[in-house]
Amino acid sequence: MASESQLSEVLSEFARTMVTDFPIQAILDHLVERIVEIMPVTAAGVTLISPGVEPRYIAASNGDALRFEKLQTELEDGPCLEAYRTGGAIAVPDLSCEERFPLFIARASEAGLAAVFTFPLRLGNRRIGALDLYRDRRGKLSATSMKAAQTLADVTTAYIVNAEGRADLREASHRSREISLHDALTGLPNRALLMERLEHSLLRCRRSGLTSAVFFVDLDRFKVVNDTFGHRVGDEVLVAVGARLSEVLRPGDTLAHVSGDEFVVLCEDLDSPAQADVIVGRLDAAFDQPFSLSGNELNISASIGIAFTGKGRADAPEDVLHTADMAMYRAKRAGGGGHDILDLRDQHFASYQAALERDMHGLLGRNELHLDYQPIVATGDGHITSVEALLRWAHPSRGLVTPGVLIPLAEKAGLIPAIGGWVLQEASDEQSHWQNDYRVDDVAMSVNVSAHQLMSAGFVDLVAAVVSASTGRADQLTLEMSESVFVTDGERALIVLNDLKALGVKLALDDFGTGFSSLSYLLQFPVDIVKIDKIFVAGLGRDRTNRAIVAAIVQLAHDLGSTVIAEGVETIEQHRELAQLGADFCQGFYFAHPMPAVNIDTLIEHRVDGASQSLPKLATL
Ligand code: C2E
Ligand code: MG
Ligand code: MG
Repeated sequence: MASESQLSEVLSEFARTMVTDFPIQAILDHLVERIVEIMPVTAAGVTLISPGVEPRYIAASNGDALRFEKLQTELEDGPCLEAYRTGGAIAVPDLSCEERFPLFIARASEAGLAAVFTFPLRLGNRRIGALDLYRDRRGKLSATSMKAAQTLADVTTAYIVNAEGRADLREASHRSREISLHDALTGLPNRALLMERLEHSLLRCRRSGLTSAVFFVDLDRFKVVNDTFGHRVGDEVLVAVGARLSEVLRPGDTLAHVSGDEFVVLCEDLDSPAQADVIVGRLDAAFDQPFSLSGNELNISASIGIAFTGKGRADAPEDVLHTADMAMYRAKRAGGGGHDILDLRDQHFASYQAALERDMHGLLGRNELHLDYQPIVATGDGHITSVEALLRWAHPSRGLVTPGVLIPLAEKAGLIPAIGGWVLQEASDEQSHWQNDYRVDDVAMSVNVSAHQLMSAGFVDLVAAVVSASTGRADQLTLEMSESVFVTDGERALIVLNDLKALGVKLALDDFGTGFSSLSYLLQFPVDIVKIDKIFVAGLGRDRTNRAIVAAIVQLAHDLGSTVIAEGVETIEQHRELAQLGADFCQGFYFAHPMPAVNIDTLIEHRVDGASQSLPKLATL
């Protein structure tokens, strides 16, 4: 029998150990353990009851007690349920004379139970379960013991209700945190959660030496979807894309919807960056099938940028994301639907780019830009017919910055109209210089124009002003652009191109063959010159497929009334083959590297002198 002092000891121990965060199961385990120590019983059990559901919490001092607890729940019969229902204690001092609970008693007696005393777990009007004391011999419990047991049950209830309240609170705050970290439209993690995971991942990578990869996925022409089909369909696209991407990822990967049409995938703990190829292949494949939305079949593609982290590096999450974003931007500029990789481990690319972006402002005023010029020659005799102006930034501390890095940054910074305008003017001035000083008026000037620049307001006016101020003819200026000009708004691009043609300038399709749907654009584009990309030229002499492609491009261009320039000609074999295939002009290191204005001046001057009219000739043809 529990003495007063034992009871108060147990109660005060309860009070001490039930610290704020004591979990419910532990409270119950503690209760049954202590109660068998101070009560004249063989076992104790407790079950928390929630109507209509299986009990989530059961505690028992031994296997028998556990069996009896479960038996009552299973049979839906027994003193435990009765105490819970009535809110009063139940005493069954002798099972053999008890008429209530026949199902339970039949089974429990077989297992050796002789007496049971049950106390409701109650607080005010609320009841949450019952405490059962089991004995293997018959006999009553003293009034003091009964009272002590009920007191323990009451105290336990108070703790449990408290713990439940805390759990509810935790769950509510967890829920609201989940909401604040997820995107409402797609239900995917948002930027904040992505950054949190990225930060953890960077810390882990630094310790483990493993690599993480960040894939920046940006839908191509999403604005067109929104404008054409409305925002409701646009939203459906985003949800559907989110679902498709989730399907191709591993369980531990994070897919976040960071803004508008941008998704980011974080794949942690890759054994090698090569694994990223497999993942990007799966991400690409997610866009293979068209999306069926509100009765529309939509073909959606995405540009993907990839950045890696890892190996003892201290990258900031923002830098990694920025790098992946830049890689995506490069993929987008290449025509969309592809991917590009910037590897943070090889180069401090992100901080490099951030610094360049900062330094870019005021660039024109500091005279840090210049143009190199690369001759373009007639395939047959190698004489110079035109030169291509190629932009360079001589950064005071970082050395030469190539246009591949500079142009995308300038586009992002909104500096392309200013820089592009400078390039046009500078190239035109150089050409005027040959005309005025060397009387050479048959060397054309090619200037590259990015898609962004072509579509920027006032571009046609700018070209018109440069052309009218120059001493040469308009058709001595060629504007080179890639197929990516059609990616964002093909119809508008065609209008701009026609306006440019009306000025009399020539238009060249640069890097032909590397974009997508090339042929359909070639048919629509009022193109004067097709520049076969160096990828195909590099394969000449080695690979019959490349020869067939180059032959087909030359044929098609000629059929459409365009001339052909082969880019990236590096060897005599390539030159020979291009001549056989009928490419009109060649450009490449085999003839001349891009060179500063003074050197090109010398070449042009010699041309006039007749001393060296041309670059390498085809002696063997
Ligand atoms: P692009 O118009 O296709 O220019 C040709 C690129 O190929 C140049 O690279 C040139 O240096 C390189 N190249 C020439 N011959 C060979 C060769 O035989 N082998 C190899 N492997 N490469 C050769 P660069 O100067 O780095 O320019 C890269 C791209 O940047 C250009 O490609 C062009 O798209 C763009 N770009 C250059 N200047 C400007 C500019 O003023 N404005 C704009 N918007 N883009 C520019
Ligand atoms: Mg070019
Ligand atoms: Mg090119």
